[in-house]
Amino acid sequence: MASGELDPAAVASFRAHLSQSNRVVAVIGAGLSASSGLSTFRDANGLWCNYDVHLIASPAGWRRDPGLVWQFYSDRRRTALQAEPNPAHYALVELAKRKPGFVALSQNVDGLLQRAGMSDGHSEDAEDAQLKLLHGNLFNLKCAGSCGYATQSFEDPLCPVLSEDHAKNRANVMGAGVKSGEKPPKASALLFEAIAAKNKKILGERFEKSEPSTADAAPLKELGENVPKKPDVAPVLHSGIQTSDLPQCPGCRNNMLRPDVVWFGEALAQDTVEQVDAWFEEDEVDLCLVIGTSGLVWPAAGYSEQARKKGARVAYVNMNLEDIKNRREGDWTFIGDAAIILPIILGR
Ligand SMILES: [Zn+2]
Repeated sequence: MASGELDPAAVASFRAHLSQSNRVVAVIGAGLSASSGLSTFRDANGLWCNYDVHLIASPAGWRRDPGLVWQFYSDRRRTALQAEPNPAHYALVELAKRKPGFVALSQNVDGLLQRAGMSDGHSEDAEDAQLKLLHGNLFNLKCAGSCGYATQSFEDPLCPVLSEDHAKNRANVMGAGVKSGEKPPKASALLFEAIAAKNKKILGERFEKSEPSTADAAPLKELGENVPKKPDVAPVLHSGIQTSDLPQCPGCRNNMLRPDVVWFGEALAQDTVEQVDAWFEEDEVDLCLVIGTSGLVWPAAGYSEQARKKGARVAYVNMNLEDIKNRREGDWTFIGDAAIILPIILGR
């Protein structure tokens, strides 16, 4: 979308409100990094597109095959390292610098806001950091046991078995089963025949032959917007990696290190949640920006509502109008690429 399509009156009224705002919260999702070339988590790219990431990025996935989990996150680390922060990241960093009362609640694990210059408090006082990472960070590692050891590393690969060459070899093996882009199988004519025969047997005289409905003939796994992407043919993946070849915890020397990200089925980091709660408790809120997230997914929905209760006006920046579900009278809505919109609306 070209900047010229933004409603000038809306931009002007937003900017007037922003200039008088001190306590500003930004709730941030994958849309912020789209212009940097990073796909959203659910349409994980390339090698993983045929696999159900819920089965990998979860405690159960880790118990089953930590090597596979590490391969998945190593690919994501590599992709994130190759991406660059875009103008939206820099516009937020600039806003954070001129508004000490600003806080960013990000669901992104890509590290791009940090690379653009916003501190997540990893190397200093976390409570004062303006960036709160709701889902962790690909580049933070922690003990998979309970010793509490945590560190940050931008190394790639973290160890030889997680190298890109290793990943390519694995891709060749994996590629033998399913071809990327293959259409989901449809219910076959043979299957309809069998169903009809069965019905005839059960119903006897009352059986009436009918054509298959559209629903019957639909691909067996039609993917809805909110349905997790599942493989149509689900191969059981094994990394074949020994746990001793994966990053080890130097704290207890008794566990592996794992990515410090929030997996499916895990709670958000307690200390982060407490810092965010404390920020909301502190005072009224002037403005809430909801950027590149559907606003329906927890915790984004919860935090924008909390900001409203604290008196905030809300502005949405999103590629799709349909993604904004809880819009109210008086909210601003800026539709388009955050990398184009944020520098315009947040600019001095
Ligand atoms: Zn440990």
